Amino acid sequence: MSYLCPVCKADDSLKCNCSIELPPAFFADEYSIAVVECLSCRFQGVTTCRESRWGSLDSESVSYFCHKVADTDLERLFGLIRGCPEPSNRRCQCRSHELLAKTDSMGAYDLALIVPVQQTFEMKS
Ligand SMILES: [Zn+2]
Ligand SMILES: [Zn+2]
Repeated sequence: MSYLCPVCKADDSLKCNCSIELPPAFFADEYSIAVVECLSCRFQGVTTCRESRWGSLDSESVSYFCHKVADTDLERLFGLIRGCPEPSNRRCQCRSHELLAKTDSMGAYDLALIVPVQQTFEMKS
């Protein structure tokens, strides 16, 4: 899968520096957070990918967003993801998973609960 950079629109330029899988939550059968960097314009951001199979049986919806956050918050997220011993294990019980798997009052994931989000872009493939 390749995606356009949300800032400079360069194709296939986003490099994933690290990512983590989180346990299923409200409207999210699969949810992952990744720190990405554009090889073309050097934009750094956080992507969230949520896959939901709720609703009709044969439809699957994927929400993929890129969020701009402050450098210090990006570093914090990077450190948290890097601090997990098993980032591809959504059932991991480490401190990073505990801090990253924050949900709102509906039980849904929201990156803004972890770090302040400055801007959000919808990702297009
Ligand atoms: Zn770019
Ligand atoms: Zn973990």
